[in-house]
Amino acid sequence: MAIAEGARLLSGNAVRDQILEEVAADLRELAGRGIRPGLAVILAGNHPASEIYVRNKVKTCETLGISSEKITPPESVTTGQILELVDSLNGRDDIDGILVQLPLPPQVDARRVLLEVNPAKDVDGLHPVNIGNLVTQRPGLVPCTPAGIIELLKRNQVPIKGARAAVIGRSDMVGKPVAMLLLHEHATVTICHSRTRDLPAVAREADILVAAMGKPAFVTAEFVKPGATVIDVGINKLTDRAEVERLFPGNAKRLADIDTKGSTLVGDVHPDSVLAVAGALTPVPGGVGPLTIAMLMVNTVRAARLRRG
Ligand code: NAP
Repeated sequence: MAIAEGARLLSGNAVRDQILEEVAADLRELAGRGIRPGLAVILAGNHPASEIYVRNKVKTCETLGISSEKITPPESVTTGQILELVDSLNGRDDIDGILVQLPLPPQVDARRVLLEVNPAKDVDGLHPVNIGNLVTQRPGLVPCTPAGIIELLKRNQVPIKGARAAVIGRSDMVGKPVAMLLLHEHATVTICHSRTRDLPAVAREADILVAAMGKPAFVTAEFVKPGATVIDVGINKLTDRAEVERLFPGNAKRLADIDTKGSTLVGDVHPDSVLAVAGALTPVPGGVGPLTIAMLMVNTVRAARLRRG
């Protein structure tokens, strides 16, 4: 792999460890006041990736001493049943955070469910009240992955103020909130999407490039300004050997992954190509992913503080 002079991998694991130490200190302080924050996770149906995400979230809660509860309605669950579940969690004093793991089964009205979560317990930061708080810079709960990206940049001393930033992807969960947070940090932000004309040229303007599109290894060197910091949010599991051979010709490790584990994990950025021009890149796995969980813990503690005073 050709690596540009000075190119570095921005590990999310190191930043996650720092953040979790801070959360642990907060939890000790709360414990001194008799408060143990509680997180409830609703995992509806059978979604293998969601099951892994939720397992990791619950495990992190256990390690830190946050009480956690996993509720697993079946794939056939109705919107009404999930709304009832959310209502009962809204009413419980021992629950500070409610996380509805997405995607929900197709028959469930996800927007209605997210609206039902008490904004004070909305640790995913997806309720319109929290989005409004984010946009107007009021205290509230900020979506975890975008918040984690800002922590990663700041704790690696990547200058944001005055920088040109481009975000590829405009989802409610990642693209839009990360663009807003970068704006609040005084970056000049361009939001790109599937209709953006000449995407590589727009992306190449950026000192900070965030790829959040769900397209394996899509962002290559031609999207990257020399020396730019590239944040790879994508998590794509490739299982097709021919696709892996096409995207990563001659990459023995990728092919070995497919042959031994049946899959290989790829971001939205092509690391071999981008590391040759970027100043810094987050790896997949081990980049943005660990921070999403860390920021969920931060939000759970914040929710407990905001609600319990
Ligand atoms: P999403 O809701 O599917 O949104 C994808 C966005 O990418 C859309 O705005 C879409 O544009 C844009 N896009 C798709 N193809 C494009 C193209 N060819 N050119 C330009 N833009 C294109 O996805 P998401 O929820 O934001 O997630 C994005 C990725 O991040 C996924 O791989 C997901 O698994 C990953 N993710 C990772 C974490 C983590 O913790 N690391 C957390 C959340 C998500 P349009 O709006 O025009 O369709």
